[in-house]
Parts: sequence; structure tokens; C-alpha cells
Amino acid sequence: MKRRDFVNRALPAALTAVAGCGGRESGGAAQDAPNVRTEQNVRWTLCSSFPAALDTIYGSSTVLAERVEALSDGRFTIRVYEPGEIVPALQVMDAVQQGTAQVGQTASYYFIGKNPALAFDTCVPFGMSSRQQSAWLYEGGGLELVQELFADFGIVTFPAGNTGAQMGGWFQREIHSAADLRGLKIRIPGIGGEVMSRLGATVQNLAGGEIYQALERGAIDAAEWVGPYDDEKLGFHQVAKYYYYPGWWEPGPSLSFYVNRDAWTKLPKSYQEIFRTAAFEAAATMQARYDARNPAALQRLLAAGVQLRSFSDDVMEAARAQARAYCEENAAKQPDYRKVYQAWDKARQEMFDWFGTAELAYARFAFSGARSSTR
Ligand code: CA
Repeated sequence: MKRRDFVNRALPAALTAVAGCGGRESGGAAQDAPNVRTEQNVRWTLCSSFPAALDTIYGSSTVLAERVEALSDGRFTIRVYEPGEIVPALQVMDAVQQGTAQVGQTASYYFIGKNPALAFDTCVPFGMSSRQQSAWLYEGGGLELVQELFADFGIVTFPAGNTGAQMGGWFQREIHSAADLRGLKIRIPGIGGEVMSRLGATVQNLAGGEIYQALERGAIDAAEWVGPYDDEKLGFHQVAKYYYYPGWWEPGPSLSFYVNRDAWTKLPKSYQEIFRTAAFEAAATMQARYDARNPAALQRLLAAGVQLRSFSDDVMEAARAQARAYCEENAAKQPDYRKVYQAWDKARQEMFDWFGTAELAYARFAFSGARSSTR
């Protein structure tokens, strides 16, 4: 018996179809199986919520497009558009839902007005770190729970990368205690914005490209964006003096690629696998770029005279209490929020226990004091 014959008989039919070449050579039914490489040309459009100047976050979309094209020998292409070219930054979800674009790159917490539970796809204040969020989404059942939420919108979602723990943002004046947040006009999206609002701040959800002008003309007193590398590019240090940390509302925010469900269903299976693989690579690339580029950017900002400040325990504790109250209130009144929150919170507690062991002990020993000289 030839080896190929043996393989074809020994493997289940579906796996033989995946192998592809056996069926192709023999002219059998496997030629039409869904995983056989397709020659079909597919042209998709992607709308990003982020400006092209940010090679970190927007770069995740270009990595996706480049890898999809390369892996499909140019037969499956995705053209990436900036905010405003097809739709404004905060209409990306609508655009994908309606099929205006097949793909969107965005942050799900922009859309908690549609369903508050969507925040768990990105992050929740005092929630998981980047690694913890990835663990929950990819391997902890999180993505399955999140997909159920997106099914209501005709969207399939894929993690698109993480920024890591963000900075607390740019402030025109110092914030010593939670009381100093009262009356503060601040740009901050998602549940972090809800928490700031409960602490007395006036919250705005501006897109990234609109923040600088709002700070410059005094329409807002403070704004958070991401971290040193991105913030430097957007020039916030030119219009606000104090740079706070940590961004307790975004300890590990995961961005998302939304795909229109009808477009996804029509996509050949091999292209679905190409997309899934490229999305995974794009996500890994984003986190690596942030971790590689933030250190030098922070040093440049400090050299330019930026005043670094850490949030006081008073601010942190008041915010954590309000964040928990917000989550508990939503869980009490919304069944789908409760379902995701309970699963997420269990995973969070377990991972905090584990990460509080070796990771934290190492971080405390190796990292501590690195910032004390600049406070
Ligand atoms: Ca942010």
C-alpha cells in the first residue's frame, strides 16, 4: 500500500479534505471540500477608529491587511481606511453591522451605550492586565461569551491587540484627591468615563484625532489616550503639563476587529483561517510595539519637561469603589451583563491571585523605585 493511500484511509474524511493534496490528485470529492485552497478573489474594506499616524494601534490593521494578502497570494485583500474616510471613528460598529465595511478596527467600550456588557471585550476599570485579558479571551471562555453579545449586531469579533497598562492621561492642573475631580472636564471613554462621572467629573468621549484641539482651546481640562508613544505623537504634552499614571480604567485594554457576519459566512474557509491567523499576528505585534516603543517615548517626554504624577491612593480607592458599584448595578439589572461579568470576575480573581505570586514579587523587586526619582 502506498503511504498516501494509507493516510487517506486512516484519516477521517474531514481531515483528508484539510490535507487537500490527496483529494486533488485523485480527483475525488475532497476537491470541493471547504478547506481546499480557493482561487476566489475577495476584496474587503476596513474602517479603523484610529488615526494612521499611530503605527502601534492603527498598525494592527495594516499588519492584518498585509498578512492576509501575503498568506492568500494576493487573492484576499483588505484596504484600510482612517476615521473620516468612510465613517467617523465612533461609527465603526454601525458601519460593520450595516455592511458599509466588512471589517472594523475599534474598541468595544466605545459602544457601551448599545450594550454595557460590550466593555468586557476591551477592559473594565480595575480589571485585567493585558496578559490576563488575553488569557481570558483566548483560553478562558471570554471570547465565546463576547461573541454571543456581538451576534445581536450581526458581527463576529477578533482580538486586535492590546496596549498594556495605559497612562492616566494629561491634566492641566494637579489632582491630589478624589475631590479634585469634581467639575473636571475630561475626555475618557467607556466605564472609566462612567466612574469619572460618578466622581463628579464632566465626561466627553472624543475620538483620538479631536483631543488635542479640545485641550488646546480649553474645552476640556484633561484627556486620557494611551501611553507615552502614542500620546507623544498626538502632541498632548504641548497642551497639558501633568502626566498621570496609572490608567486604572485601562490596565490591559484589548482592541477588536469586527467582521460583518454575512461577509464572514460567505468567506471561503481557507480565507477564514487566513484572517484568524493574521488577526492573531496583528494582535501580538501591537503589544510588542507598545512595549518596545513606550520606554524611549517616556524618556523623551520627561526630557521635554513633562511633569509625571501618580494618582493618590485616595483617587484610586474612590475610583475602585465606584467601578465596582457600576458593575454590580449593571449585573443586577441586565442578565447578559450579569452572565459575562460573573464569568469575567471569577477569572479576574483567580488570575489576580496567581499574578500576585511570582509576577508581582518579581516586578516589585526588579521594577520598584524606577519612578521614584521623577515624582
Ligand atoms: Ca485610553
